Amino acid sequence: MSTPNSSSRIRYHKRTPTGVTKNDQASLDPKIVGLWEKCAVNENDDKENFQRSFVRHVTTTLARSVYNIDNFSAYQATAHTVRDQLIKRWNDTQQSHTEADPKRVYYLSLEFLLGRSLDNALLNLGLKENFGEGVKDLGFRMEDILDEEVDAALGNGGLGRLAACYMDSLASLDYPAWGYGLRYTYGIFQQRLKDGYQVEFPDYWLNFDNPWELPRLDVVVDIQFGGSVNKYTDEDGRVRHVWEGNDVIKAVAYDVPIPGYGTKNCINIRLWSSKPKRQFDLGRFNEGQYEQAVQEQMQAENITAVLYPNDNHMVGKELRLKQQYFWVAASLHDIVRRFKKSEKPWSKFPDQVAIQLNDTHPTLAIVELQRILVDLEGLDWDEAWNIVTRTFAFTNHTILPEAMEKWPVPMVAYLLPRHMQIIFDVNLFFLQNVEKLFPDDRDILAKLSIIEEATPQFVRMAHLAIVGSHQVNGVAELHSNLIKTTIFKDFVKFYGSEKFTNVTNGITPRRWLHQANPKLGDLITEVIGSKDWLKDLSSLSKLEKFADDKEFKKQWVTVKRSNKVRLAEYIKTHTGVVVNPNALFDIQVKRIHEYKRQFMNILSVIHRYNSLKKMSSEERCEVVKRVVIFGGKAAPGYYIAKLVIKLINSVAEVVNKDESIEDTLKVVFIPDYNVSVAEIIIPASDISQHISTAGTEASGTSNMKFVLNGGLILGTVDGANIEIHEEIGDDNIFMFGNLADQVEDLRHAHRYRNVPIDPALQEVINDIESGHFGDSRIFSPLINTLTIGKDYYLISDDFGSYLSAQNLVDEAYKNQDDWTRKSILCTARMGKFSSDRAIIEYANRIWNAKPCSA
Ligand SMILES: *Cc1c(COP(=O)(O)O)cnc(C)c1O
Repeated sequence: MSTPNSSSRIRYHKRTPTGVTKNDQASLDPKIVGLWEKCAVNENDDKENFQRSFVRHVTTTLARSVYNIDNFSAYQATAHTVRDQLIKRWNDTQQSHTEADPKRVYYLSLEFLLGRSLDNALLNLGLKENFGEGVKDLGFRMEDILDEEVDAALGNGGLGRLAACYMDSLASLDYPAWGYGLRYTYGIFQQRLKDGYQVEFPDYWLNFDNPWELPRLDVVVDIQFGGSVNKYTDEDGRVRHVWEGNDVIKAVAYDVPIPGYGTKNCINIRLWSSKPKRQFDLGRFNEGQYEQAVQEQMQAENITAVLYPNDNHMVGKELRLKQQYFWVAASLHDIVRRFKKSEKPWSKFPDQVAIQLNDTHPTLAIVELQRILVDLEGLDWDEAWNIVTRTFAFTNHTILPEAMEKWPVPMVAYLLPRHMQIIFDVNLFFLQNVEKLFPDDRDILAKLSIIEEATPQFVRMAHLAIVGSHQVNGVAELHSNLIKTTIFKDFVKFYGSEKFTNVTNGITPRRWLHQANPKLGDLITEVIGSKDWLKDLSSLSKLEKFADDKEFKKQWVTVKRSNKVRLAEYIKTHTGVVVNPNALFDIQVKRIHEYKRQFMNILSVIHRYNSLKKMSSEERCEVVKRVVIFGGKAAPGYYIAKLVIKLINSVAEVVNKDESIEDTLKVVFIPDYNVSVAEIIIPASDISQHISTAGTEASGTSNMKFVLNGGLILGTVDGANIEIHEEIGDDNIFMFGNLADQVEDLRHAHRYRNVPIDPALQEVINDIESGHFGDSRIFSPLINTLTIGKDYYLISDDFGSYLSAQNLVDEAYKNQDDWTRKSILCTARMGKFSSDRAIIEYANRIWNAKPCSA
């Protein structure tokens, strides 16, 4: 036996797959390459290979055997087998991207709400059938195995789920893209109910091993905070700045492979985890000061410990700002390092790199890149700023004032002294240009400034994001128009309107139809004769001609009914309430927020309940039975939202046990709404509600998920509801309420005139105040939002048309045959709302990026 000499061993050891270039490959001995290829993981996608791998993982990865394996271990063994496949594809994809060196797209998102990965990977890789049979032979059911997985819940709601859908599309469309985020030790809290109140529990998602991440313990970036900025004069006589931080924390990379559908491509989300620079202060440890020694460790790990649980609401905590910089600095370091490997000049950076900012959370990336280019790489300010602004693009997600991020200048200056200087300089040069265009207009300078002049001053992150980006987009037509006419209207005056554009959100049909509703997916595939819709959602239009086909409609109804039975079982198990699958399932699931108006929904439920009680039993025979289903988390500090949950549960308590109304009405609050629960709920809807005050919901994406699954919408003229309406037509949607352009006047009227409350609403309020649903004092802060609070979300103004729309829903549901036709047409006309369409728009209009297949 010969051993390789030590120098060659070192050479091999240093060769990392991601660093291999063409030249490296050419210099390798073909015999060695041949052996490597022979030993490479085989394709493993037939049943027998799967079973061999499964048993090997049970034995070696889990140290178990046929005698002591449970469903969870079976899940782990299956997951590890799939993971092996993912890693192989991941390596091939990254290697081919390294060789081709195309323009890369970087999606920076503080949230990725991925949900479960196993079923998605099995379906995207086309392994589900073989592996399903494989586990069956070994004594397991695939459904049970899939159900063992805990969600990766690193997001609050729509924004984080959008990032996840976009990663699925980027992979499926072969774009050379990376996601960058944070690896929170605790994701969004688990919600339980106690006495009808929400209680929060920590989300221990990493307590068991996580097969869906690859720790890259060798990819580590030092991130500094605090300290000071020193000036010096360089060799060329230029004044330069150097930032010396006084606190250094390590960012360690964890990679999450994202497989595309119908492609070998597998892209990456890189999540950063914080680690202390030094493990222990050994000196203190030896002096017996164990606690202080551990303290440094704990503070560092703090940074990525927990996801902030607020949706559409800014909380100005210092730790949150530290999270943002930690994430942005680590990601940019990685992006710049990858760019430098190609040895292209800096001027080519925007041709090689597109960075999308998912909301203002990553806005410091703009400042960090400017700092890298000017302070570390020695570029001139203007040259650097030109590169920066050609690289970044910014997606705005909301116009709600309470959601606008702004950070106190003293806080930024203390944590990031050099960044604060750069922000002031960026602002000065920007305002100088504004002044040139609008001489002596001090008003517009104040309005556009990145700095809000208050005590203390604040950094307006949206302003910084606009100034540092070449494109700004909203997420639905209405929203994109609103940002141009309201919050950013002065920027339009300065930049012109071309800088502002729209990319309507989308959802991935792989998860939200193929995976969540396999029966409907199969039926669609069967009737249109291909699976094309999974790659090109517009081919769902082929369903249109079956909307009047008797046989097809019967099958459509059968699928919907079985999904309703599945949800009814879930409700029974998780709430104890028995619901009738023949009733109309009316669903509102989303984060609990005043602007989303779950309050208005439950008030209308009370109205319905009172109407039912007034009826004779003959009259009640004629009514459409309804199950009203709610779900969603309230931010832990959002008192009013939490009261809404309590009111829903109090109403449910009374209604569900009132036998006098028979089972014409049931009310259910499903706890702990998350992606996996959504996958059960959404395919089972007859009607779903998207009833935000007009102009407040930027887009919404669950509206799209419901309609794709053949559910009708009851909605306001807001967000993407408007475009869904345009696509599916008047007959297939129930729209109501005041329009966005009426909102300001209505609010004004509430503020300055005595607008009487809608009489039907007043009756409901009186009912709550009479104590019908428990101690009414509990609910007075909620009722006060309508009175003292001047009904900011205009519930009274929309209540009448809301009730009328509800009546139309009941009437329409009586004609089951026509309802089914509507349901089919809904699905058939949803092609536009694929996240594939959205990603292609970003790629062509904003990133100038092309696909690059492995
Ligand atoms: C899609 C989705 C959302 C977004 O719902 P909206 O109704 O658009 O606010 C929130 N949470 C989960 C789990 C989702 O899947």
